[in-house]
Amino acid sequence: MIPILDSKRQYATIGSEVEKAVCEVLRSGSYILGANCKALEQELADFIGCKYTVGLNSGTDALHLALRALNIGAGDEVITVAFTFVATTEAIGIVGAKPVFVDIDEDTFNLDASKLEAAITPRTKAIIPVHLYGQPCDMDVIMDVAKRHNLHVIEDCCQAIGALYKGKMVGTFGDFGCLSFYPTKNLGGMGDGGLIMTNDEKLRDRVIALRNHGGAIRYHHDEIGVNSRLDEIQAAILRVKLPHIKDWNEARRKHAYYYNELFADCKDVQTPKELDDTYCVYHQYTIKIPNRDAVHKMLQERGIGAMLYYPIPLHLQKVHEYLGVGRGSLPVSEKNTDMVISLPMFPELTEEEQRTVAKTVKECIELSKSAAAV
Ligand SMILES: *Cc1c(COP(=O)(O)O)cnc(C)c1O
Repeated sequence: MIPILDSKRQYATIGSEVEKAVCEVLRSGSYILGANCKALEQELADFIGCKYTVGLNSGTDALHLALRALNIGAGDEVITVAFTFVATTEAIGIVGAKPVFVDIDEDTFNLDASKLEAAITPRTKAIIPVHLYGQPCDMDVIMDVAKRHNLHVIEDCCQAIGALYKGKMVGTFGDFGCLSFYPTKNLGGMGDGGLIMTNDEKLRDRVIALRNHGGAIRYHHDEIGVNSRLDEIQAAILRVKLPHIKDWNEARRKHAYYYNELFADCKDVQTPKELDDTYCVYHQYTIKIPNRDAVHKMLQERGIGAMLYYPIPLHLQKVHEYLGVGRGSLPVSEKNTDMVISLPMFPELTEEEQRTVAKTVKECIELSKSAAAV
């Protein structure tokens, strides 16, 4: 059995520190928005290289409150991709705005910036580029289009903490960057958590008010907010983990390049391509293969943890039926959806396991071909 992610292996390396930090919180009597949250916000701002961060309940809330802080709501359109996790468009829906989909680039799986301008209408207020699988979007082009059309940019960095575009961290290009600390993310808590990054003090203050019932001063409420505070236990755990994120991301990259080598002799496997001058953090290692569904089933039967991110593109989900964006509208997103498969990827993965994964993937592809021929 080689799982797609084995959180227990990471815990074995930092568990005693985590337990100590959690016990300190338990004994402190301060459980929400205390010293650990404040310290984590500062440490993450330093790591990312942005002025401010605000700790929240989830990555979904980070996206949702970023939109709220920019006053985006009913009647507005927000451009994003259909090849992402549903939280990206859910946040747009929560504020009452409408998602408008742009197709993705065949090789990077990210928003095809050359198609961006055609999707802009007088109602467009913002763009949400998603740095999927830990690969940065083409931010120069996206920011250029945004500036020329006076649009806000909210970067969905939930899968991409620490990724660099031309030497600069993702999350620092737009008005906001959004992080998730869901346990499977590159920097994951042991529960839910999220955070916004921004260089704009006013936007930071607005999110601080929105996360705590719409008021910066206790029991003074200026608008409808939410309860989206990062709890102290999660913040303390994340503070134990943050100093390791660079090494963990490095290990993921090393694994990705080793997989690339292992698949180099297999014409059927399309390995991930990177944009020039980017530092990808491989939240997922995702390849494209023929007979994907058959191969996926065979890998599962052989104990290889392979997953489909994501099995249905968002424009074809029931929740978005009302948009009337049918099959065929986003051909690259649809094609990639049918071909992608993500393989085991986590810092503690061993080279021996990678060799087993690659060998099994190649065998299953051959098997699927003979099955298809019958
Ligand atoms: C995980 C994720 C989110 C949402 O994060 P949660 O913390 O689970 O709410 C949003 N967008 C993307 C691309 C994600 O991977």
